[in-house]
Amino acid sequence: MNTEIQEMTANRGRIVFSETDASIVNAIRRTMIADVPKMAIESVEYHMGAIMDDQGKEYESVSPLFDEMIAHRLGMLPIPTDLDVLVPREKCSCEGEGCPNCTIMYSINKKGPCTVYSGDLEPLGDAKLRIKDDLVPIVKLKDGQAILAYATAQLSTGREHAKYSPVCGIGYRYSANIRIDSARCDLDEACIEVCPKDVFVREGKKIVIKHPERCNLCMACVERCELDCITVEEDRSRIILKYETDGAIGAKDLVIRSLKILEEKFDGFREMISSLEG
Ligand code: SF4
Ligand code: SF4
Ligand SMILES: [Zn+2]
Repeated sequence: MNTEIQEMTANRGRIVFSETDASIVNAIRRTMIADVPKMAIESVEYHMGAIMDDQGKEYESVSPLFDEMIAHRLGMLPIPTDLDVLVPREKCSCEGEGCPNCTIMYSINKKGPCTVYSGDLEPLGDAKLRIKDDLVPIVKLKDGQAILAYATAQLSTGREHAKYSPVCGIGYRYSANIRIDSARCDLDEACIEVCPKDVFVREGKKIVIKHPERCNLCMACVERCELDCITVEEDRSRIILKYETDGAIGAKDLVIRSLKILEEKFDGFREMISSLEG
């Protein structure tokens, strides 16, 4: 297998695998989605009853959304996850009591009228634990409404719930083999107009396949070319994996962790088979 990293930013990755097949890339994809752990808010405790501000104004602990809906929204927020430090609660030395190695707590204290955003969650402890994206809207409070709550995040995997999956978009596809029969091309540029990915450019008296890696195999150019001089075929030996994380874990860390998990699984499988031989 050969790999080529075409993009690796904080949250996005694009890797081209060649001399392999889709089953391998799919195993990596599924491991990223379901097996790499991530922190997410698991429980929220709401203050009930009246809340007073510094000037003595009284607010009701209500909002236009049910508490369960707000808790669900909080559950989907990207909690910074340092997998070198954090462990699942059930495996932690605190035996599930909750400690800095397995639990992150946030407080939220907002009074309307206002929009409550993810950035309004204050970590109890290190400021590095602030939610990765400040501007995720949670709920709009009207005048006289308020929310005072404590949220607890813990580590788990997407296998348990989608909120624990570090991936917010992932997919793979075959790359494209594109050919143009320049001898027959009349340079009407129809393929340039129709291509949604700007794969083609005109250079002098030639249509050039400038960005073949962008092709999504939609076949619009093939259908549009009246002279039938374009062919586009899937190249099943080159597979492009593209993914985006929600920010809780970096794109590079995510792929490294998923490969380690796969390695451990195959090691376990190898040991199991070896034990049968005896
Ligand atoms: S659509 Fe076909 S004929 Fe027209 S420029 Fe493109 S390749 Fe040439
Ligand atoms: S198949 Fe679609 S994306 Fe690919 S080159 Fe043709 S028009 Fe562009
Ligand atoms: Zn603990």
